[in-house]
Amino acid sequence: VARVGTARLVQGAVEAFRAEMDEPEINVDIDLQPDLPDLLVDEVQVVQVLMNLVMNAVQAITASGTGSRVDVTACSIDGHVRIRVVDDGPGIPREIAAQVFDPLFTTKEAGEGTGLGLALSHRIVLAHGGSIDLEAERDRGAAFVVDLPVAPDPA
Ligand code: ADP
Ligand code: MG
Repeated sequence: VARVGTARLVQGAVEAFRAEMDEPEINVDIDLQPDLPDLLVDEVQVVQVLMNLVMNAVQAITASGTGSRVDVTACSIDGHVRIRVVDDGPGIPREIAAQVFDPLFTTKEAGEGTGLGLALSHRIVLAHGGSIDLEAERDRGAAFVVDLPVAPDPA
């Protein structure tokens, strides 16, 4: 666990994802509040969480043919950094919303999804003292919200 700049972490995750992605018609954009506080995290793990969320969004858009954009935003809210990954894809039906963080829950074909991405992401975020939730009641698309505690001020 180390102190890491939020902007650097989010940009690193999205850029790593973009480098591997071959869907040029999908835009993955970042919008960061200026002067975000640092986090105290296992950077590899948190990058993995963000990449999981962006990958799910891109896969949902590609598989459904609905939507074209994924927006990753970060802002600071009393003692936490809030990172949102929002897409304009098909969204998540209310009936399955309660299950998406369950290990092995997937709606993808065998070989395309393991159903472990969100379960692992949930575990990682909780281990960092944070939370991860699916935003309910959206008109379109899906939005995941990750809250992580900010690093204490260096003494
Ligand atoms: P996997 O991607 O292997 O299926 P995940 O744990 O990453 O497993 O996701 C579980 C399920 O949650 C997916 O199969 C899909 O049904 C749903 N899901 C996750 N993110 C999105 C999204 N952005 N849009 C639509 N459905 C999603
Ligand atoms: Mg996944």
